[in-house]
Amino acid sequence: MSSENPKKFKRYTITSALPYANGPIHIGHLAGVYVPADIYARYLRLKGEDVLFIGGSDEHGVPITIKARNEGVNPQDIVDKYHTIIKKSFQDLGISFDIYSRTSNDIHHKTASDFFEKLYKNGQFIEQTSEQYYDAENKQFLADRYITGTCPHCSYEKAYGDQCESCGTSLNATDLINPKSALSGNVPELKETKHWYLPLDKYEAWLKEWIVEGHKNDWRPTVYGQCKSWIDNGLHPRAVTRDLDWGVKVPIQGADGKVLYVWFDAPIGYISASREWAEKTGKDWEIYWKDDSSKLVHFIGKDNIVFHCIIFPAMLKAEGSYIMPDNVPANEFLNLENDKISTSRNWAVWLHEYLEEFPGKQDVLRYVLTANAPETKDNDFTWKDFQAKNNNELLAIFGNFVNRTLVLTQKYYQGKVPSRGELNALDQETLKELKNYPHKIGKSIENYRFREAVTELINLARLGNKYLTETEPWKTIKTDEKRVETILNIALQISANLSILAEPFMPFTAVKLKEMMNLTEKYAWDKAGDIDLLKENTVLPKPDFLFERIEDDVIEAQVQKLLDTKKANKNKAVMAAPAKENISFEDFAKMDIRIGTILEAEKVAKTKKLLKLKVDTGIDKRTIVSGIAEYFQPEEIIGKQVSVLVNLAPKTLRGIESQGMILMAEDADGSLKFVAPISTTKSGSEIK
Ligand SMILES: [Zn+2]
Repeated sequence: MSSENPKKFKRYTITSALPYANGPIHIGHLAGVYVPADIYARYLRLKGEDVLFIGGSDEHGVPITIKARNEGVNPQDIVDKYHTIIKKSFQDLGISFDIYSRTSNDIHHKTASDFFEKLYKNGQFIEQTSEQYYDAENKQFLADRYITGTCPHCSYEKAYGDQCESCGTSLNATDLINPKSALSGNVPELKETKHWYLPLDKYEAWLKEWIVEGHKNDWRPTVYGQCKSWIDNGLHPRAVTRDLDWGVKVPIQGADGKVLYVWFDAPIGYISASREWAEKTGKDWEIYWKDDSSKLVHFIGKDNIVFHCIIFPAMLKAEGSYIMPDNVPANEFLNLENDKISTSRNWAVWLHEYLEEFPGKQDVLRYVLTANAPETKDNDFTWKDFQAKNNNELLAIFGNFVNRTLVLTQKYYQGKVPSRGELNALDQETLKELKNYPHKIGKSIENYRFREAVTELINLARLGNKYLTETEPWKTIKTDEKRVETILNIALQISANLSILAEPFMPFTAVKLKEMMNLTEKYAWDKAGDIDLLKENTVLPKPDFLFERIEDDVIEAQVQKLLDTKKANKNKAVMAAPAKENISFEDFAKMDIRIGTILEAEKVAKTKKLLKLKVDTGIDKRTIVSGIAEYFQPEEIIGKQVSVLVNLAPKTLRGIESQGMILMAEDADGSLKFVAPISTTKSGSEIK
């Protein structure tokens, strides 16, 4: 750590988990990985450290091939789409990657392929043959997700080869009753296939020494605990290849139709990205990965611990020339409104949507996700809390302090920084406290306690507010003008310090505040704590607001969006009602169903549900009373074509004789839709 061992590390290699390119980024990803990684990288750069901050899209693996199949496109189309969305949304949030790469790039295929080949040639793998399901029609082995069948535990008929989504049990493909190939629908056959395995058991003793003994005190307890339990339970050889046609081809003879397992190729993506960065900048990537004076830190979510603490290090160890991560500060999970974030259920706040719906408010999201970061336990994001943190902290504490200071400076001194005269005890105490903040905040960041760090940042603004409240310059101005000069000078120095210290957390606000303070240079972190950042007589521009209030209706709209999602999910989950008893064709033929056109529509007085319609049935123009008023306004349905059961016996409703029935499709939530021809059809056409 730079504050304690200033010379220990010469450079920092910071990786952030490669997001899987089958969907956009949501707040759970941001809170877990990207916002803390960015704070860390930005802080170190401000400290003048040499930093390589790596990101990229993980574009291989079975879920992408399945999504492509379902949508009738190529896997490359899927990853192109999401890589573009993900990359842009990170950029717009100010995530300051030095490189954002992708694993479908040639440089990655080559890097991963070479890595495998080196291990293969050095005899680091073992070969094993096993029986796997094979689809003879499509001539390919089936990944677990490509096999469906009946769950042996709950009899659910659409369980996958790796898991039953009905009862949640994890399965082996061979456990399924009546297995079927998702490709052809045929019964798959078992066939022998050969794969290469990394013998993790060989690395047990080394892992024990390096992690269990070596990182007991500096790794987070959850990270350490998970590693220890994996190691204590005994490690086993793990397949590094699989039968699939999407991924990095296995670069040895006789391995046709096999690719590197995605868990093997993805972390090598960090190395490929570094090489790509080196090609672009003319720098040397190898010292960031192979020199002992480089500090490697992996930012990940807790679901990724085993890959980054055990498997990837074992791969690097097997290769032999790489350094090991110094720390892996994995976060716990962020929930949304008390429910687990889920891509498939659309239960998320999507970054690209947030950026569109809250323009200019990147820092509000960055702040809320940091102040509420799931560092030691799972945390919850709620829109109410988002609003409260903006209004009560960013606006009421940080923004309010800066604004009061700048407005008073404009009012009393036309925006010119006044001089600081003799200091009283309160002034001295305040300046002394100010000087402590850069170290306090920096230390928290270096120890991966970002939540604590951002709290200290707000505490500095609190200190400023307290100082103004105690010195009351707006009152003192009437009795002691000279004194007010000193007070505002001190308040201005605190504001100027905030513009440096806020940068890792809220980069957009920091830039804006620097402009408002007329600080034109690029200030290093170590400049913070200086009580003469602003020179006397510097002229400051007219102040603008740093933050704005977020009103209730904005929050209610977001909550409503989530409620709509919940409702949609519920409807999706409702099973269709079972079929009714069979009828004969004669029974069906008794019904005379025609296309009709609605000519007139009006509400039936004193009812909520009924509309009185005049319908052209092609046979005649007749009156029909229909219970659709909750879903349709009379004026919007005039001219629409509908299906009419014309030979239903007439019935009197609210004194109106209804001659027939309009056919409607009813959703699980009771909402109604017309059953109508796809293109305009002559009224009176028969439906049979
Ligand atoms: Zn089951």
